[in-house]
Amino acid sequence: MSRVRQHNVLGAQWKPATNGGAPAMELDATTAFNANVFTDEVAKQLMDSAAYDQFKAALASGEPINLDTANAVAAAMMDWAIGKGATHYTHWFQPLTGKTAEKHDSFYEPSGGKAIAKFKGKDLIQAEPDASSFPSGGIRATFEARGYTAWDPTSPAFILENPNGATLCIPTAFVSWTGEALDTKIPLLRSMAALSDAAVRALRLFGDSESQHVFTTAGAEQEYFLIPEHYYYERPDLVTTGRTLFGAKPPKGHELDDHYFGSIPQRVLACMMEFEYELAKVGVPIKTRHNEVAPAQYEVAPIFENSNLSADHQQLIMQVMQNVARNYGLVCLLHEKPFAGVNGSGKHNNWSMGTDTGHNLLEPGDTPHDNLQFLFFCTAVLAAVNKHQGLLRATIASAGNDHRLGANEAPPAILSIYLGEQLQDVFDQIEKGAPTSSKEGGMLNLGSSVLPPLPLHAGDRNRTSPFAFTGNKFEFRALGSNQSISDPNMALNTIVAEAIDALAGKLEAEINGGKSLEDALGPILTEAYNANKLIVFNGDNYSEEWHAEAERRGLKNLRTSPEALNEWLAPATVETLSKYSVLTDRELHSRFDVYVEQYVIKVNIEAETAYDIAITQLLPAAVRHLGEVKNAAPALAGEIESLVTQFSEAIGALEKANLDENHPTEIVAEAEYMRDSVLPAIENVRALADKLERVVADDLWPLPKYSEILFIK
Ligand code: ADP
Ligand code: MG
Repeated sequence: MSRVRQHNVLGAQWKPATNGGAPAMELDATTAFNANVFTDEVAKQLMDSAAYDQFKAALASGEPINLDTANAVAAAMMDWAIGKGATHYTHWFQPLTGKTAEKHDSFYEPSGGKAIAKFKGKDLIQAEPDASSFPSGGIRATFEARGYTAWDPTSPAFILENPNGATLCIPTAFVSWTGEALDTKIPLLRSMAALSDAAVRALRLFGDSESQHVFTTAGAEQEYFLIPEHYYYERPDLVTTGRTLFGAKPPKGHELDDHYFGSIPQRVLACMMEFEYELAKVGVPIKTRHNEVAPAQYEVAPIFENSNLSADHQQLIMQVMQNVARNYGLVCLLHEKPFAGVNGSGKHNNWSMGTDTGHNLLEPGDTPHDNLQFLFFCTAVLAAVNKHQGLLRATIASAGNDHRLGANEAPPAILSIYLGEQLQDVFDQIEKGAPTSSKEGGMLNLGSSVLPPLPLHAGDRNRTSPFAFTGNKFEFRALGSNQSISDPNMALNTIVAEAIDALAGKLEAEINGGKSLEDALGPILTEAYNANKLIVFNGDNYSEEWHAEAERRGLKNLRTSPEALNEWLAPATVETLSKYSVLTDRELHSRFDVYVEQYVIKVNIEAETAYDIAITQLLPAAVRHLGEVKNAAPALAGEIESLVTQFSEAIGALEKANLDENHPTEIVAEAEYMRDSVLPAIENVRALADKLERVVADDLWPLPKYSEILFIK
């Protein structure tokens, strides 16, 4: 059937709150938040006070929760969940697929001809999904495939609603029966503990005897596209791979800068309001919404939370947005590069450290003393990022993100830190060890003759930096839109813990040798800054000059996933992650295998999808068109005929490149082969198809065009 542009009218149609998609927004803004979360308050209300106290004590100490207490929590949870309409529960976990996983079990069991509800402590604490069906890398190859999910009481249980019922979701960790992490939560929790220990040790040197615990915090800004579902389902490439493998650049893109922060289309805003409402009910504190740069692109940002909760909530944000979009005849695209030639989507991971007494350790303080401490922690971050550039790069490597890093829309594959003019000025003085102590407009006295004054405000913004200091946090800006934030945060927490320990060790030695904190700190920071300053770059990260300069500095520039993923196994990675008991050598190898394999599989799916669409949809359309032209106006057929011939050859070349027998068998070599042979073959087919799209009769071209998909709202 030929395609006619009337479809666009259908694509544009929507009605607010129609049957089947009616949002049930019955709670007001103040009561919606946490309405479906088993909060501390709910636990307190529903549990007897002795059991509740035991539960709280176990949580505070980090000790395992005993079975009696678990039974009491489970009983309260079940009553609460059933009261909210839940019929089932699931252990909700995050395997190495980057997505969440769930297997539902009913609360109800037959008893005496009726059904009774049952949910015990043991059901809460542990379950056994079939681990062999989840990626485990080498761990699966050598051991029995058994795996367990284990309740994570630090992330509260929540209820996900469905038009036909509700499910109690219990956040859990996922381990193999040999005790190895098979998920992204376990290493994240371990890294948070490592950072807490290191930071508390350092705080003691600064005279903080109160803080018992330091939490890492994360707030992730999420970019996404919303397009009419009508087009989505007409595009097998979007359905299968998440991105368009074909599509000529539209006449209009974002050149007019008329979309970014523009007024939000009504249908889109309605959708945002509903998913924000749904997210509020499960306790996700959404704060910000706006149009992003590309047409049909948007952003949502929550308020930061401790990293574990934030990582769980990030997964929920992606899931709930995708579900709710369908109520508005829209589809939410989370791929890093859904449309070639149009800005892609990333995720900005804001990161900091906060004490249990309420202080943000990356906030310049009010007193000289606080500011010494601030500079200490900042310097640790510089040292950590410099030493572990490769690992950080590895945590954001994926087939999807390869389309963005290094292109002129996202920070490059080179890790560097933006300090901003004012903080840079402070470090310039630290570099020279120059004494200064005056308090001038907007500057803070550090109370030390060896340290410079500190700015009250962070400097200007630099959108091109992959890792920027933004006032009271660092913003890791190079994450892919589709990824879990767990790995990047796990890496950050661990490497900063290591850097804090190194600096604290030196400081302890000096202080034990009789120096005052102030006198000891200056030279230590000067030395550390000088050793790590090559990671600092405040200029334009998109420029050619920076790439040349970075090379001179010896910074890593790992352009693609096959290169970047190797860093999971770099000696510095293995040493640091095992020293802090975050990931063992075995766990790292398993992760490495899984991520490289995912890269290969994703590119392979793209190759097969591109081939399929080209051979069964695009080539026939082009040939029909050629036939018509030959019939009606043979003099015009020359150029089209040559394009069709080239296209057909390119399709043949793609098929050949992706033939199994051509693939190297070793996984890293295969990933390189996908990058060097298969991806270019897909690109060749695409380039010709995009030329044909511009000449083949519109009613024959089978795929909706960018000018429709991105602009009909
Ligand atoms: P932008 O970077 O676009 O200016 P905002 O200033 O609104 O955006 O903040 C972006 C994100 O940074 C938000 O998710 C916010 O909650 C988060 N954020 C703020 N403070 C911290 C912190 N101490 N730790 C982690 N994230 C933080
Ligand atoms: Mg930001």
